Amino acid sequence: MTETNAENFGIPEGVQRALVVTAHPDDVDFGSGGTVATLINAGISVTYCICTDGDAGGFDDATDRSEIPAIRRAEQIAAGKVLGVTDIHFLGYKDGYLEPSHDVQRDIVRIMRKVKPQLVITQTPERNWERLPSTHPDHMAAGEATTRALYPAVRNPYAYPELRKQEGLEAWTVSWLFLQGASEPNHWIDITEHFDRKVQAISAHESQVGHMEDLDGMARGWATMWAERAGLPTGRLAEGFKKVKLPD
Ligand SMILES: [Zn+2]
Repeated sequence: MTETNAENFGIPEGVQRALVVTAHPDDVDFGSGGTVATLINAGISVTYCICTDGDAGGFDDATDRSEIPAIRRAEQIAAGKVLGVTDIHFLGYKDGYLEPSHDVQRDIVRIMRKVKPQLVITQTPERNWERLPSTHPDHMAAGEATTRALYPAVRNPYAYPELRKQEGLEAWTVSWLFLQGASEPNHWIDITEHFDRKVQAISAHESQVGHMEDLDGMARGWATMWAERAGLPTGRLAEGFKKVKLPD
């Protein structure tokens, strides 16, 4: 358990816009759904950037694999609607092949410069040996590409100069980074009030979770574990992050 300190909880001051970058449709809802609901509830606008179409996911052998990207995008749009997120960018990279390449970094910088977020949430680029699935290679690639985009590319007007010259996208500096899936979280969001909506958002990913019998119980187990690590009273539910203050 970490020392309970007000600074280890909640949304940092001054956040008006947040951007969530993940590898697959459903990653945001599993890792940060309650936090997204908390942000929206506080009047903060939230945008998603989903790097791949999750076309290697699912359990249904009967569906033509070529149909999967459209299904998974539609599910993410439906899940976004549950939480109040309608601005969703799909980068369309291939599931299972994501790398923190310059193409991926440039695409993320483009969205950061358009959205101008103060807070970015992504997946940890560091392998979590306790929970290997949380650090699927695509997740680490999305996290690494996002972290590289945050420092230095998005704030450097001379990085990917075509974004400025051809698209008029000026440099932007992001203040805060939250990493989901981190093995050493140092920050928590109490999601107790929004937990039901988190489960509803996860449920929207029918092709991924349709076969699961006790989604609520599974999600509640994780959220309870996080709340205990955060030192919150029994019965509270939380999501945990590694919070990073980016250089000014
Ligand atoms: Zn994933």
